[in-house]
Amino acid sequence: MTVTPEVAAIAAQLKDSQARMLDPHDAALIGAWAQTWTDLEPEFLDAVLSVMTASKTGRVSARQMAKSKKLAAAIDHARTSMVELLDQYDQNLAATLPQAATVTVTAHQAMTIAQVPESGIEFDAVTTGQLDKIVARATEEITASHLRLPVEVEAEMRRQLVHGIAIGENPQPVAARLVRKTGQAFNGGLPRATMIARTEMLDATREAAQEWEKKNQDVLDGWTWICALDRRSCAACVGLHGSDHPVSEPGPLGHQNCRCTRAPKTKTWAELGIPGMKEPAPILTGPEWFDNQSRETQDAILGATRAELLRTKQVTFDDLITRRKTDGWRDSYVPTSIKSLKLRKGG
Ligand SMILES: [Zn+2]
Repeated sequence: MTVTPEVAAIAAQLKDSQARMLDPHDAALIGAWAQTWTDLEPEFLDAVLSVMTASKTGRVSARQMAKSKKLAAAIDHARTSMVELLDQYDQNLAATLPQAATVTVTAHQAMTIAQVPESGIEFDAVTTGQLDKIVARATEEITASHLRLPVEVEAEMRRQLVHGIAIGENPQPVAARLVRKTGQAFNGGLPRATMIARTEMLDATREAAQEWEKKNQDVLDGWTWICALDRRSCAACVGLHGSDHPVSEPGPLGHQNCRCTRAPKTKTWAELGIPGMKEPAPILTGPEWFDNQSRETQDAILGATRAELLRTKQVTFDDLITRRKTDGWRDSYVPTSIKSLKLRKGG
């Protein structure tokens, strides 16, 4: 059958309830991360100033920075703080993930029932064992990435700190600037931590949904890509909204932090053995929805250059979608770069 506006509305509710489950953990991490840097900053400032004060030449070499025990202790403190923050965050996420997966499967069933009301179809449930496996694998992925992250952030902090500097008349502002840059490196770890977690968590819920579809293939004809369709949506997700995919295909293979959902699409009434029923009208596709938006919204979603190329028919919506390969991660659909759009247009 088809994914109707009613089904898309259930998908939107699912997206919101997933966000309500994950947002508080992100908010807690954001607060704790900021507080941790506030606590660490004086320690770094003190360490950097000590190295500067000890210099008799008006310069501090990278070697002198690297040799400072105080600075090494501060960096160590930063890394162990990150490990603790992420450990707490991961525990919170692990406690939420089973619920997020269950809610997704329940919504999936509701989306299917909305398409075949009063048909008396019985559904097969995903077993607890299968859900546990999906949850365990996602938790492991998140933990592994979160174990690597503090090491990477530490290396960035070192790159900011450990190089030669001229002290000048007054060491205080020089040290403050250096510590500020180090803080930026520390804080740069935060959006990466939440992005990894959000993406893995949502992928796990998508996988749970796919498991449910596999069990109910006698009723289903695949799944439909549902995008949030708002100003924060990207060209790729809008372009794929309303597109149909086989049950065997994982997804939606959105970019990192993608909020799109997978809606089950039932077979036609005739295929389900119920003749004489009229098929309902489908939802608008993403490109159809896009055509009805104001110029301003179109520019917000695609960026002004892409939007103009599309409006003047120099490119199609399909041209705006690129499947990207990423080392160590799954493929994902992203907006085509303006550079390659212009190349395509010329060629
Ligand atoms: Zn998306």
